[in-house]
Amino acid sequence: RKHVFKITTGSAELDKILGGGIESMAITEAFGEFRTGKTQLSHTLSITAQLPDESKGYSGGKVIYVDSENTFRPERLRPIAARFNLEDECALENVLYTRSFNSEHQMELLDMVAGLFHQEAGIFKLLIIDSAIALFRVDFSGRGELADRQQKLAQYMARLQRLSEEFNVAVFITNQMTSDPGATMSFQADPKKPVGGNIMAHASTTRISLRKGRAETRIAKIYDSPDMPEAEAMFAITNGGVTD
Ligand code: ADP
Ligand code: MG
Repeated sequence: RKHVFKITTGSAELDKILGGGIESMAITEAFGEFRTGKTQLSHTLSITAQLPDESKGYSGGKVIYVDSENTFRPERLRPIAARFNLEDECALENVLYTRSFNSEHQMELLDMVAGLFHQEAGIFKLLIIDSAIALFRVDFSGRGELADRQQKLAQYMARLQRLSEEFNVAVFITNQMTSDPGATMSFQADPKKPVGGNIMAHASTTRISLRKGRAETRIAKIYDSPDMPEAEAMFAITNGGVTD
């Protein structure tokens, strides 16, 4: 049997409401408005996934980072690595980076990902897709394309789920907010929702909503966790990454 592990977010408070961190063999989705910390959390996890935790039998490992928005900054990893006492050149080498240019390309990249996971069995621990949804939104933006988009998105999410289980990795994806009621397939009063409607709601194992607090603080709320209650945590974004 594969041994499920959890990757620390860098914030003990956020880890607590997640039941220890970002879980393997599952998809964790963070959604929120612009500048709520989705990309900074992605950078922090790229480093913390590498940290072994002997007390939990976790070896640490490599990361694949798929970037659809061109917001990955390798230089950003250096101070985060330093905070966790990792040698920065080594830490950077352990993060395999690729851009995705359209939704089809983003889907094809999963073949490359599966190939790497297969080649170096047990070496990769985390797959990040920042943002998972943005390109699907662009490619299927026309009238009458919503059903097609939702179908492609469902296929994409199913492949992510399969990869996470087959290779025992954690999948961390980010998602945007929309006020387009059609795009969310929701008729609730709250006008702003994560993109992807029911497809995303069902495909993600755990959903974290992010919003701004005072200054550099952010508030995370857990949604839809199979085994954790809905709860909130405050964290901060610093030069050393996400912290309490
Ligand atoms: P999102 O991806 O949700 O749009 P980001 O993860 O890019 O948001 O978060 C942007 C926030 O992170 C900004 O408020 C910015 O001030 C903060 N930030 C980025 N880099 C640093 C840093 N080196 N030190 C402190 N805060 C930072
Ligand atoms: Mg971002």
